[in-house]
Amino acid sequence: MLAATAQDVWTEFLAFIEERCGKVEFENWFAPIKLLQSTDEGIQIEVPNIFVREYLLDNYREDLALYLPTNANGDPAITFVVAEAPRENHTPTQPAKKEERPVHHEVKLNHHYTFESFIEGPSNQFIKSAALGVANRPGKSYNPLFIHGGVGLGKTHLLHGIGHYVRDYHKGMKVHCITTEGFINELVSHLKSKTIDKMKRFYRSLDVLLVDDIQFLQNRLNFEEEFCATFEALINQGKQIVVTSDKPPGQLKLSERMIARMEWGLVAQVGIPDLETRVAILQFKAEQKGFRIPSKIGFFIAEHIYNNVRQLEGAINRLGAYCRLMHLDLTQEVVESTLGEMFQAAPSQKITVETILQAVSSMYDVRVADLKGTSREKRVAFPRQIAMYLAKELIGDSLMKIASNFGGKTHSTLLHAWKKVSSQIEADETLRRQVQMTKQNIEV
Ligand code: ADP
Ligand code: MG
Repeated sequence: MLAATAQDVWTEFLAFIEERCGKVEFENWFAPIKLLQSTDEGIQIEVPNIFVREYLLDNYREDLALYLPTNANGDPAITFVVAEAPRENHTPTQPAKKEERPVHHEVKLNHHYTFESFIEGPSNQFIKSAALGVANRPGKSYNPLFIHGGVGLGKTHLLHGIGHYVRDYHKGMKVHCITTEGFINELVSHLKSKTIDKMKRFYRSLDVLLVDDIQFLQNRLNFEEEFCATFEALINQGKQIVVTSDKPPGQLKLSERMIARMEWGLVAQVGIPDLETRVAILQFKAEQKGFRIPSKIGFFIAEHIYNNVRQLEGAINRLGAYCRLMHLDLTQEVVESTLGEMFQAAPSQKITVETILQAVSSMYDVRVADLKGTSREKRVAFPRQIAMYLAKELIGDSLMKIASNFGGKTHSTLLHAWKKVSSQIEADETLRRQVQMTKQNIEV
């Protein structure tokens, strides 16, 4: 039983809102809400879907806090229950509508983004073969496949590559590619036109769902829930999901449930391509655009533009245009004068493992020879791990090559050090500052 006063407060709140927001909005959003329970600590209400909750909190949080008990943060203490079955016939004020076509915010697959045009190197070999595995046997190998990595390193390229492959080799399968923003917009527009069930049916009928940039689901709590439901429904039916993100699942600000779902299958990273791979990418992209980059020039460019493949493409476009317009041959001078500005972002001096070791040695007062040595004493071992971390962060070479500079350590030792320091930096402010200072000493 509800206390009479609680019911009164809720009725009062509704009366206040009705006056404020107008009849149509009230009918759409507030009329379907049911008050279920109330105590001195807060109330429990039933909403027809998560969007009503989102809407309520986004627009009326403060008003609710005025009428209702609040929690420690000053937010209205409301527990929401989402009604089990959507009330399909709950449109008494609306005349029967014509069938509305659901708007799908589908992303058209970029025809350049195929597996064939994705150049492999040590930084992306693993993820490429995982992507191929998924494309070969959708829903049957890794599910979901979670691809993460920095900007411009080929995540969208691989995602579309999977899409193309499935369309070419599994003709009966329904593939759908979206951006996370697109998914959210689609939810909102279906909600407005009351076709949310259609949207659900559509998504649940897919065989392969490709989702780009899941990081945009962060801080969109209510959409996250719907996304998670779609996600689970598909995975439970053995349908394939592939997700890209700028961070690994554990570093995303999403619910534990969502993070756990993302980690169900295979999580893999696209790394920064090493020098040789960057040169191969440059030459491949140049050829696609109808000109050739000699190896020496390719190395010169790739040494200066090193942490983003998209920038390499920008460099090629600029060079191509310049040489065509000016009828010039591609020489180092031409490259320098055309790409000079892009090069400025890069340090003038190439960072080497030696310069990193020097900086770490003076920061932590440990001898370079000890850093390269095998001592496991904490005083030495930890700075060594920091040097390894910095080397992976700052040098675009393959892990194997970098590791060999640390007195013949293996690339997995280096990777372990990088992971350890990365996660400690997140939690430890002092360490973060020390590493930052060391970095500054290297880069001057
Ligand atoms: P992200 O989604 O990770 O930000 P994109 O997939 O959009 O990056 O890639 C940026 C550009 O770089 C695209 O034009 C893509 O074709 C290209 N690219 C990235 N990695 C590779 C690679 N290994 N081989 C060929 N092209 C690549
Ligand atoms: Mg992308």
